[in-house]
Amino acid sequence: MLNSNYIESLFGIKGAKLKNIERNTEESTINVYFELEKDIHECPACKELTISVHDYRVQKIKGPPLGEYFMVFHYRKRRYVCPACNKRFYEKNSFVPRYHRMSYSLLSYILSELRSVSCRKSVAKRCNISVCTATRVFDLISPGKPKLPEVISIDEFKGNAETGKYQCIITDPKNRKVLDILPGREAHHLSAYFSSFPREERQKVKVVVIDMWKPYADLSKTYFKNAIVVIDRFHYIRQVLWAFDKIHRDEYTPYGQNPNSPWKRCGSGLVPHPCHPGGCHSCPPYP
Ligand SMILES: [Zn+2]
Repeated sequence: MLNSNYIESLFGIKGAKLKNIERNTEESTINVYFELEKDIHECPACKELTISVHDYRVQKIKGPPLGEYFMVFHYRKRRYVCPACNKRFYEKNSFVPRYHRMSYSLLSYILSELRSVSCRKSVAKRCNISVCTATRVFDLISPGKPKLPEVISIDEFKGNAETGKYQCIITDPKNRKVLDILPGREAHHLSAYFSSFPREERQKVKVVVIDMWKPYADLSKTYFKNAIVVIDRFHYIRQVLWAFDKIHRDEYTPYGQNPNSPWKRCGSGLVPHPCHPGGCHSCPPYP
């Protein structure tokens, strides 16, 4: 009974009857052998109650690391048989998800590690699992879908996802919050995402702030019928500055070739040449 209490407090396994504990120094594992208390179970098919045991099977389950050792549970799993319909079914347990070989305590440990350590490889090594498994556990975390605010902003950033060079970021600019990140900025990614929101929710969006990427504008008109589309200040001003720069270059380039150009360089700007047309040629040509 005391052993059962230990196993429950240490690993969250309720009602366990501990059979043995072994330490394997070669494999760096601590092997815990146990089974659950026999109990009345309800048949999943006909709801008849039964306590008749059909057979047992030992399942190996990975547990969280304990110091430099890895925990391995050897769970003697009981299978009941229904006296009414003869259905066989496994007993209920609270420590391992169905079809999994990792305990809830290990899953919880991996998630806490992934929260604090960015490298999945080191988490996988610490938990004695493969990198693929660590990635699968990470993918299980579902932050849930956000609620669309009245003002949303769509932009891209250069990321390192396998889906493409740019990823798309959806933000709430009024409250300065990131709502979601999409795998790509292409129309099909955006359509799949926004079409998953109910129409009533999309109709409540009043302003969509975008840069000058055409698919954003097309998509905004399709999915946010009641919203106005605004080009954000940064991209708007950048276009103006680029236009000035172009004029600058167009006007300045001839100066290097033509000493009679009416313009001279002044810092990063362009001013009328004071010596024009006097032949002051000390100004360097535009790079
Ligand atoms: Zn039954």
